[in-house]
Amino acid sequence: MNKILYISSEAFPLIKTGGLADVAGSLPTALTKQSQDVRLLLPAYPEVLSKIRKNKKVSTTSYYNLSVEIIETRLPGSNIIVWLVDCPALFNRPGGPYTDKHGQAWHDNALRFAVFCHVAVDIALNKLLSNWQPDVVHCNDWQAGLVPALLSLHRKRPATVFTIHNLAYQGIFDQQTFVDLHLPEELWHINGLEFYGQLSFIKGGLAYADKITTVSPSYAREILQPEFGYSLDGLLNSRSKHLSGILNGIDEKHWNPGTDKYLEHKYNRRSLNKKSINKTELQQQLSLPVDASTMMIGMVSRLVQQKGLDIILQSLATLFTLPVQLVILGTGETHYELQLSEWAQRQPDQLKVVIGYNEPLAHRIEAASDVYLMPSTFEPCGLNQLYSLRYGNLPVVTPVGGLADTVTDASEENIKNDTANGFVINEQSPAALLSTIQRALTLYQQPEIWRQLQINAMSADFSWQASARRYISLYQQILEAH
Ligand code: ADP
Repeated sequence: MNKILYISSEAFPLIKTGGLADVAGSLPTALTKQSQDVRLLLPAYPEVLSKIRKNKKVSTTSYYNLSVEIIETRLPGSNIIVWLVDCPALFNRPGGPYTDKHGQAWHDNALRFAVFCHVAVDIALNKLLSNWQPDVVHCNDWQAGLVPALLSLHRKRPATVFTIHNLAYQGIFDQQTFVDLHLPEELWHINGLEFYGQLSFIKGGLAYADKITTVSPSYAREILQPEFGYSLDGLLNSRSKHLSGILNGIDEKHWNPGTDKYLEHKYNRRSLNKKSINKTELQQQLSLPVDASTMMIGMVSRLVQQKGLDIILQSLATLFTLPVQLVILGTGETHYELQLSEWAQRQPDQLKVVIGYNEPLAHRIEAASDVYLMPSTFEPCGLNQLYSLRYGNLPVVTPVGGLADTVTDASEENIKNDTANGFVINEQSPAALLSTIQRALTLYQQPEIWRQLQINAMSADFSWQASARRYISLYQQILEAH
């Protein structure tokens, strides 16, 4: 049994802004089921504190003259021990985990996550919670990036893994921040935390972790190229021997159309006819024309450039000449929210846009839709296409990252050999998106073929067990070399 300290800045159901939370809420449980001893480290945001029941203070310390308490609790719905970094001056404020209510990054993010990382390092070195020292410290995204860097300075330290969930977010701050945080001088160089004269948190993970993973095999290859590498492709190439891709799974407890607590009409492969009841109910709820035969296209997403919003907006005028309805749930950049809302006012019978974060509605859209829109410019893994497959809602995707690894185009050949489960757009353009949706519409009008595509989609196994096994073998590999 390995002891794993899993470090994440968000974890479902305590706090979530995106896919990282889903992973951090599921992988520790899957690892525990395979006999690993996993503890999760998370900042004590107010939303987290409001959701925990039993808890106890297990340690008190301070960094940069700010007092910090470590609170022990359990991840709701599981037995996983969670240690919360409770530093009210940094984490107890209204707004999101990384941004204020206007979407502006918190001015003190460097300090907030430096403190978070110092706590992780002290636990890893057995200085804070004396009865438990990890064998492996598993860090996620830039918020945990300083941990492998700081640990590298100690000879007797646990092994480190750094997982990239999205290379676009790097935690870049000015050089003065490096000085203000009193980070060790020896980490300031081109192969360390320095990035074109600035401080890069993510480089702490990429340069110093024993192993680097990302969340799909294709994304692990893509980030070695300048197009997807954000100027980190050189460093990643130099570490490519230690880089691999492990596909995310989905949490079947929350994402299963047969047991989904948010659905009144649950269904599975054998009762697919009930899926359309979910559609007519959603049409009613959203005041769209009620018609089970209209192809419904769904999307639940952060509204940011990455998710293909530009080509979607450029396609809308032509899209609405087709017999389809489009339902979008999301929040993100204000200009996308505004443009989509304006379109929705103009096309009330074909477009519904719900701005906000809404977990029940996200599930209902997955159950109601026939097609799921995800034409991302890049996609490290993507969870929504996996949920869509599970819900018999065929994804329309660009062939990038995890989308390329999980969606097989409904070409004639793939339909014949029963491997087709969605639609792949051959390039990131409005014309290609529209012709792919048109292709989906043509097949949608052939119910027998469509049903087979849905069955192919719903039969795939994206459970966490297989991915957890891959992480465990990676842990074993480093521990043997360590
Ligand atoms: P990313 O991590 O890039 O945002 P993923 O597809 O990996 O994209 O994961 C997104 C997760 O966040 C999914 O679980 C999705 O359902 C959820 N999500 C995104 N936006 C919303 C929203 N507005 N309301 C509810 N859930 C959302």
